[in-house]
Amino acid sequence: LVRAVNVRKSFGDLEVLRGIDLEINRGEVVCVLGPSGSGKSTFLRCINHLDRIDKGEIWVDGHLIGYRRAHGHTYELRPHEIAAQRRGIGMVFQKFNLFPHRTALENITEAPIFVKRQSKADAEARAHELLERVNLGDRADFYPAQLSGGQQQRVAIARALALDPTLMLFDEPTSALDPELVGEVLDTMKDLASDGMTMIVVTHEIGFAREVADRVVFMDGGVVVEHGPPRQVLDDPQHPRTRGFLAKVI
Ligand code: ATP
Ligand code: MG
Repeated sequence: LVRAVNVRKSFGDLEVLRGIDLEINRGEVVCVLGPSGSGKSTFLRCINHLDRIDKGEIWVDGHLIGYRRAHGHTYELRPHEIAAQRRGIGMVFQKFNLFPHRTALENITEAPIFVKRQSKADAEARAHELLERVNLGDRADFYPAQLSGGQQQRVAIARALALDPTLMLFDEPTSALDPELVGEVLDTMKDLASDGMTMIVVTHEIGFAREVADRVVFMDGGVVVEHGPPRQVLDDPQHPRTRGFLAKVI
């Protein structure tokens, strides 16, 4: 479903991604680990073209992200074409970024109504289903400020799901939460994984990676240092940099 080939990205003189190659199958859950500054967030942002890559290519569901090739030239897609690609890719950040003056339900129906032109009734029916799915069936009319961080993050997940993405990207979705709220968000993500969603999850939650990931990717210095099944990468890492990192976080 996802194929990254020799993806490179610099900010000025700083080369942040130095040739990322990665393939992810439909239904696969991939957890990305790595030290701060290793390029994890940048890589996720490149997948939906929030950051532009300098070299290489990223394919999602058969589409070349951000660009079109014709007559031996590469052209950047127009904003509405980029927006269309992004609709297929749900993204959940550390900070939930819900609209503060809209209820949980309204946060979820916003994009389906205004982007996908769904009727209000259809969008609301679907939003109620999604709220049930993230275990917030009784919180539809609450405003973000009336919800805990964990509940807000689950609304953010429901909101991302409302556009029926083929791929979900998570960038440290639990690292801004109080420890007692982390579990409920990870449980929601676990449910999503077992429903077959393809997911790329940047996380420091080693337990989650061990239990839910099909594959763990360890990034350092803008490259994939090693990847493999969680047991292999977490319990028997081959690369000294992976060993050094895990020794610090476990
Ligand atoms: P963390 O675990 O701290 O979130 P990360 O692996 O997600 O780290 P990135 O956020 O991808 O790392 O950043 C990689 C490097 O790129 C860092 O050195 C960062 O300062 C730099 N960087 C990221 N975004 C920008 C930007 N928009 N402009 C300039 N430099 C940037
Ligand atoms: Mg990051």
